[in-house]
Amino acid sequence: MKPDTIAYFSMEIAVEPRMPTYSGGLGVLAGDTIRGCADHGVPMIAVSLLHRQGYLRQRLDAAGRQHEKPDTWKVERFLQEMEPRVTVSIEGRDVLVRAWRYEAKGVAGDLVPVYFLDTALAENSEWDRALTDYLYGGDEHHRLCQEAVLGIGGARMLYALGYRDVRCYHLNESHAALLAVELMRRHASANGRKKLRAADLDDARRRCVFTTHTPVPAGHDQFPPDLVRSVLQDIDLSPFEKDFCSDGKINLTWIALAASHYVNAVAQSHRAVSQAMFPSHKIDSITNGVHIPTWASPPFLDLFDKYIPGWRERTGDSFSLRHALNIPAQEVWQAHSKAKNHLLERVNRETKVGMDPEVLTLGFARRMTAYKRHLLLFQDMERLKSIVAKSGKLQIIYAGKAHPRDDQGKELIHQIFQARNELKDHITIAFLSNYNWKLGALLTAGVDVWLNTPQPPLEACGTSGMKAAINGVPSLSILDGWWREGCIEGKTGWAIDPGPVNNDDRTAADADALYRKLEKVVMPLYYRRRDRFIDVMTNAIAINGSYFNVQRMVLEYVLKAYA
Ligand SMILES: *Cc1c(COP(=O)(O)O)cnc(C)c1O
Repeated sequence: MKPDTIAYFSMEIAVEPRMPTYSGGLGVLAGDTIRGCADHGVPMIAVSLLHRQGYLRQRLDAAGRQHEKPDTWKVERFLQEMEPRVTVSIEGRDVLVRAWRYEAKGVAGDLVPVYFLDTALAENSEWDRALTDYLYGGDEHHRLCQEAVLGIGGARMLYALGYRDVRCYHLNESHAALLAVELMRRHASANGRKKLRAADLDDARRRCVFTTHTPVPAGHDQFPPDLVRSVLQDIDLSPFEKDFCSDGKINLTWIALAASHYVNAVAQSHRAVSQAMFPSHKIDSITNGVHIPTWASPPFLDLFDKYIPGWRERTGDSFSLRHALNIPAQEVWQAHSKAKNHLLERVNRETKVGMDPEVLTLGFARRMTAYKRHLLLFQDMERLKSIVAKSGKLQIIYAGKAHPRDDQGKELIHQIFQARNELKDHITIAFLSNYNWKLGALLTAGVDVWLNTPQPPLEACGTSGMKAAINGVPSLSILDGWWREGCIEGKTGWAIDPGPVNNDDRTAADADALYRKLEKVVMPLYYRRRDRFIDVMTNAIAINGSYFNVQRMVLEYVLKAYA
């Protein structure tokens, strides 16, 4: 075992399309990080929960109402059961935990093992057995118990598996913050104490780094101190109330901040937002990236193999995608057309809307949550109708899941269905059900323009636009998250930018800017200057694909976080 191992803890990790151990961007990024570390021989091990029933399988009825089912899968088919068992004390009960091993294999054969923790053991009570069933499935009490399994159980499991020389623990989002508490407990115990002291926090801080992933409050779990005391009866956090509490609650983000010597946000603009949220901690930024072999469509992988030899040999060389500028425009268009046909066949098979490959097609797929503003394009239906009457036809493909308890998110899907009906004589709109890894890959490769309309500054980074970029699909997006770095106007895509506006009341201005850019710039380019549209596609690959990838991101983590 390499002595300088990095242990990466994440509540969700997407390692295989058929393993529903993730819900969205966080898990996909974790999976890409692991694939990148395997490619480049970074000595990493990863820990997550098993999620036997996945996150959710989405079915939509004719009115656009979401129905959820468990997303079950055959654990034994993908994972190898490990021998050790560890216990985590939850509400005074000893909950038994086992681990299942997955191996992510890099391009040169390096392995990153991923351990998925599981409490479905006969020795546990029925309630405890279900702790690792659903990702984000329960109430706050259930969530805290899951987080104890991940952080405390994960630290103990690594130790039991023989990883005694972990040099750096990476908390990928604060769900894993109880790992730091376990490291503190371990340090106290090594010094013959039961009671935790400041020195234990100092010791944890030498070992941990933390990545924060969202400014949205729901992403920062906080619990009443009474609840924490009743779940973690054997740990007394009262000496650290000043460090770990905000507004009288124990906040996992605050634990992660206090227990880490390096903290980063996931894009430059997100760094500024996070720094303002947590003024007493220094926040750095490492902009996310995507794993190119995972997200480029087969026709583009073939093109890269043909025109950019060596791009995936040995450790892989994602930076060499800048040579995409040498790919003949005709071949870029042909590869894109293949990916587009592939997507539209699926759309037409599934929804019978009869989409036409000749028509400019926008894609919009993301979690159904208010700040993503799925309805911005429908702000002014009459204007939208007049734009297509003047500038050419338009097709739009939507996808996205709402959290089972997010009624507002579910309502958004219903409203998109209503807009689809209202616009059906003017614009062809489809909503594909059960957005996941494979559908995400199909969509980001197969549409002509990737649309993103978040409410600034709430989009921490966003990675689907990066997946689009490596497939030659330019973004038309609000300047938030990664797009503030990735947008070179008219070269790599287009900004939806109303200029200076009041952030609380910018919807009308943003919609106006979107309509203007679509009508005056994007549609004319697509329909009348196809050669220049293809230049933008090629630049998306050469300029953004060569930078917003996992190789660059992992290098930054190695230099700044793991060093
Ligand atoms: C890439 C991806 C995401 C994250 O995309 P955003 O741009 O951050 O919304 C979410 N879900 C799936 C299935 C993905 O593939």
